[in-house]
Amino acid sequence: MTLNDNIQYISGVGPKRAELFKKYLNIETVLDLLYYFPYKYIDRSRFYTISELATDLPVVQIRGRIVDYKIVGENKSKRLVATLSDQTGSIELVWFNGIQWIQKQFPILSDVVVLGKPLEFNRTLYIPHPEIEFWNTFEESLIQNLQPQYSIPDKLKQHAITNKVIIKIIQAVVKQYTSQINETLPEIILQRNQLISLKEALYQIHFPENIEKQKKAEYRLKFEELFYIQLQILSLKYFRRNNVAGFIFSKTKDNLVKLLYKKLPFKLTHAQIKVLNEIRHDLSSGKQMNRLLQGDVGSGKTIVALFTMLTAVDNGFQAALMAPTEILAQQHFQTITELCHNLPVNIQLLTGSSKISQRKEIHKGLQDQTINILIGTHALIEDDVTFAKLGLVIIDEQHRFGVAQRAKLWQKSTNEPHVLVMTATPIPRTLAMTIYGDLDVSIINELPPGRKPIKTIHLDDSQRLKLFQFLHQQIQKGRQVYVVFPLIKESETLISLKDLEDGYESYSREFPPPKYVIAVLHGQMKSQEKDFSMQLFASGKAHILIATTVIEVGVNVPNATVMVIESAERFGLAQLHQLRGRVGRGSEQSYCILMTKNNLSKESNMRIQTLCESNDGFYIAEKDLELRGPGDLEGTQQSGMPFDLKIARYSGDEQILSKAREEAEFILQKSPDLKLFPQLQLTLKKLKNEKNDWSKIS
Ligand code: ADP
Ligand code: MG
Repeated sequence: MTLNDNIQYISGVGPKRAELFKKYLNIETVLDLLYYFPYKYIDRSRFYTISELATDLPVVQIRGRIVDYKIVGENKSKRLVATLSDQTGSIELVWFNGIQWIQKQFPILSDVVVLGKPLEFNRTLYIPHPEIEFWNTFEESLIQNLQPQYSIPDKLKQHAITNKVIIKIIQAVVKQYTSQINETLPEIILQRNQLISLKEALYQIHFPENIEKQKKAEYRLKFEELFYIQLQILSLKYFRRNNVAGFIFSKTKDNLVKLLYKKLPFKLTHAQIKVLNEIRHDLSSGKQMNRLLQGDVGSGKTIVALFTMLTAVDNGFQAALMAPTEILAQQHFQTITELCHNLPVNIQLLTGSSKISQRKEIHKGLQDQTINILIGTHALIEDDVTFAKLGLVIIDEQHRFGVAQRAKLWQKSTNEPHVLVMTATPIPRTLAMTIYGDLDVSIINELPPGRKPIKTIHLDDSQRLKLFQFLHQQIQKGRQVYVVFPLIKESETLISLKDLEDGYESYSREFPPPKYVIAVLHGQMKSQEKDFSMQLFASGKAHILIATTVIEVGVNVPNATVMVIESAERFGLAQLHQLRGRVGRGSEQSYCILMTKNNLSKESNMRIQTLCESNDGFYIAEKDLELRGPGDLEGTQQSGMPFDLKIARYSGDEQILSKAREEAEFILQKSPDLKLFPQLQLTLKKLKNEKNDWSKIS
């Protein structure tokens, strides 16, 4: 018997259930089962009377008598409705499955205990698919006051795998296997943090004696989960720090840098200067730079990138700048070429649509070092380009360019180049510590002077006339307008472009040619077509650019002062903030107009309100996580997060995360290669091979 045994041998499981557990919960071994934690607990010492019930109560427990059954509805909506009564009143219980079974098991006049969540339909309270058992056998089966509740996929429920069934199985597992659970944290970490043992924690998380013990168990397990993530990330950082020599760029304010500085059309902000100093310090230190540059949209990261690249060139190295989209790569190429006009530096662009002949030229130029700076899309790292002397890589605007992808950069040259990651997506600290936990951080916390804060306005579809009037005014003043339509993300197919096409028609009716020019941009266009549209808009020839979120990041057209977001309720907060950041780049007052349908859900409304009340990317990011962060909901996934967390939360467990990170640092300072902590080394190795593979941080 080991923790790696297949669960089919556990009493109450068997091969059929084992198959279901594997298929729908990804649970195969005893250990998997032990780590299948309850999402909440119900106090089973408390009984409610029927007259006390209300929809704002959580799952409740009632004692009563079944006085009636009827079957209602047909086919899919066919259901069993039972009437449960006590001295204070009666309530309906509703089941869609097991209609025959329940009537047979609990004949009319059975005295039962029922467990479920009261809901309301047509002003009548009812309880959908409650758990039910006989009152007279209930006492025995009462496990304890705090009963664990496991989230159970519908597919399992359909096979009569109820919460009770799972409790029984886990009870069996705990009884049989706890003796084999080995501690996974070093004694010193347990002591410093007053953590209970893993054995104790795994017991108390399933079957807590009381709330305090449950909390201690939860803390211990959350801590462990976050600690190992941090240990993985930080050990990479320590490895680099101790084993990877960085190119030394000793000239930090010479030749090209000096020349650019002289011809710069504006003064750098304090924040830009501070950040450049931090970067220069890294570059001349002899250690490899791995730095994150965070700065809200429009804070001026591009110029920082350019100075950094020129420093590389001044020191005889090549530099690469990678952007997430072709449009953005193109735009960087133009901006940077213009800024470097007349400077002795060779800058080239390489994207997916570069012709083979150009590609060859570029490959050659990179080899013979006639090319100093290469700008391209993220596809650069997949491409077979090699540089003769790559000293620096800059990754722009990519919040999902994780540790693993960054690692690929190393293959582009014999020595590891310096790496600067730039992101405009302000992410909450917890996420930053995870996605970018191996990087040092610089922040631009100041916008260039003279910017007016963007005004954000929420209109619903009935106010469209008002919108059009406003757009006419702005266009008359010589301003330009973006209009963004959502795409259904999973399938960026032509069908889903329908919204955009309908929108185009409606806007062209309001702004007819030849007086008005409307450009269109979406991901399905050929790259030349995209270019053409972008040029039309950037040069001021088009009044309106109708686009999908391809313009989300980076695009910079200072004369565009209005961003209209159609069906804004269908976008996430971070995305809305990014889109809004496309305006407010010049000295004119800019506007972001969020168009939504009339009746918004509470959650959508919160998102829209958050955006209307704040321009602060960090505030919005925290709010975003909070809104997305699951509270007490069954089976909610924290989608789009770098690691699938079993128990800890990205929102709400910030303090545990900070502590876990501190402790991981503490361990690595004592023993950077973990030789002093063989147990940690082992667990880490296992983790890397397992589900929580950190290539997921991407
Ligand atoms: P982001 O940080 O979003 O990438 P950009 O680098 O695109 O921002 O800069 C936004 C705009 O601000 C550009 O038009 C750029 O020329 C301008 N800009 C950058 N730095 C300054 C500065 N110090 N003073 C004035 N304008 C600046
Ligand atoms: Mg940018």
